[in-house]
Amino acid sequence: MNDQAQRGNVVMQKTINHLVQLQELTLARAEQEATLSGAQLSQLDKSIQTMMDELPVDIRSTFVRMLKKSPLAIVPIANKNCSACGMSLPVSLIQAVRAAERLVTCPNCGRLLYYTTAAPRRISTASSRRRGEPPKVGIERFSSVDLMIPRLEATDRDGAIAEICHLLEEKGFIDNGELLTEEALKREAIVSTAVDQGLAFPHVRGVEGGGLTLACAISEKGIRFGGPSRSLTRILFFMVIPTAASAFYLKLLSGLTETCRKEDARDKLLACDTAESLWKTLIKITKSTIS
Ligand SMILES: [Zn+2]
Repeated sequence: MNDQAQRGNVVMQKTINHLVQLQELTLARAEQEATLSGAQLSQLDKSIQTMMDELPVDIRSTFVRMLKKSPLAIVPIANKNCSACGMSLPVSLIQAVRAAERLVTCPNCGRLLYYTTAAPRRISTASSRRRGEPPKVGIERFSSVDLMIPRLEATDRDGAIAEICHLLEEKGFIDNGELLTEEALKREAIVSTAVDQGLAFPHVRGVEGGGLTLACAISEKGIRFGGPSRSLTRILFFMVIPTAASAFYLKLLSGLTETCRKEDARDKLLACDTAESLWKTLIKITKSTIS
């Protein structure tokens, strides 16, 4: 590769990073809407506008056009497949994405593709249904009694996230809890996932290899989770989201918000002192909001 081509690739890689960051902001905005938390919308809108303005006109219009169709316009390649639609990608195309030669789109779904190296992976066998068991419904599709923490030991945000991520690894849902913690904290740095009424929805997107996974943790004393609300966070829903479930995850988020807006539901969760009771309560109170 000559110098000029290499410089071109560096510029292209910067553009790709810019698009990925911009998309994180648009997703954070959608999350704020799903959790009925308008507190940071204007700040997010401003940042989104600034980043949009910095893009070359043709790339901006492609990106905006795709965002109108789906919450994801740029997605990582996972295990040689497009992580959004699952299409297996030709080696030459993967090479082009990896080298950042140009903007490459998935031949099947048309989304822009990018390359990542270290991402935590979901281990899909952990919660899969055993033969003869009835099909799972509602929240049982995404979680399990193993992922309930009725009394968090951690007293701060980073510690709480690490404690949940460690459990996800320990129970065999995730291959690398440390990496998961890092990614969740990166997401918190963009804009806090804490919302009113003592709730927070920390999460990591782009964890491939299995389905959407939810853990629930309660802090008895409450944790300062950042964000605009001065209230302490007591109920944490931690989500691990494969790229293909990015749209569905917003629905889950609004279902959980709808449930937990009721003081009665929050009190029930806070009163649980065992993983079993927390799990049973969660199933019960989300029956009408999560299908
Ligand atoms: Zn695709």
